[in-house]
Amino acid sequence: MPDLNRADYEIEPEYYETPLKTNAFDIDDETKIALISEHFTSILNILGLDLRDDSLKGTPGRIAKMYVKEIFSGLNPANKPATTLFENRYRYSEMLVEKNISVFSNCEHHFVPITGKAHVAYISNGKVIGLSKLNRIVQYYSRRPQVQERLTVQIAQEIKRVMDTDDVAVMIDANHHCVSSRGIQDSGSSTVTTSFSGKFKDMDTRNEFLRYIAQ
Ligand SMILES: [Zn+2]
Repeated sequence: MPDLNRADYEIEPEYYETPLKTNAFDIDDETKIALISEHFTSILNILGLDLRDDSLKGTPGRIAKMYVKEIFSGLNPANKPATTLFENRYRYSEMLVEKNISVFSNCEHHFVPITGKAHVAYISNGKVIGLSKLNRIVQYYSRRPQVQERLTVQIAQEIKRVMDTDDVAVMIDANHHCVSSRGIQDSGSSTVTTSFSGKFKDMDTRNEFLRYIAQ
């Protein structure tokens, strides 16, 4: 278990990285799509669906393509967004908050959607980042089978890495469709997870962030 008293940036990646096989990308996307499509054909057949139907016949291929190229494309490090940093010439030294970033992910236990909002903030250590890159980092890690806690930490760690600062905050407020559409079937609840490190461990700084996102 990680030592919870250490600074966040010292947590070893093994505790927050998505468990992936070492040979995960030995086969290319096109081969993956073909294989997943075959397996989905079996699943739909077992469910009893008639795949000769016009509306259904393309479904296994559509799902396979969506998995590899869209909703799980964030598994492949090749798809990690390149980050462009700029000099902080104007000496902006306050926190920068990017709020209400859309989160579309999928729970790794049921493979149904997790939808919500992410709010991220950092305090510049001499560099500033193109704002849309923060959205792209959120999107990249969301495009994996996820648990919300890990997603939160992965986003925080990546922002810390690219910005070269420990002063990062991430909050995700999301609805888990595995809670709302099945199981307990509670559509009113949402799950909030946070990661506060560096200066955001200070209550005043943390409260300033929380005030901005409450507006
Ligand atoms: Zn689930």
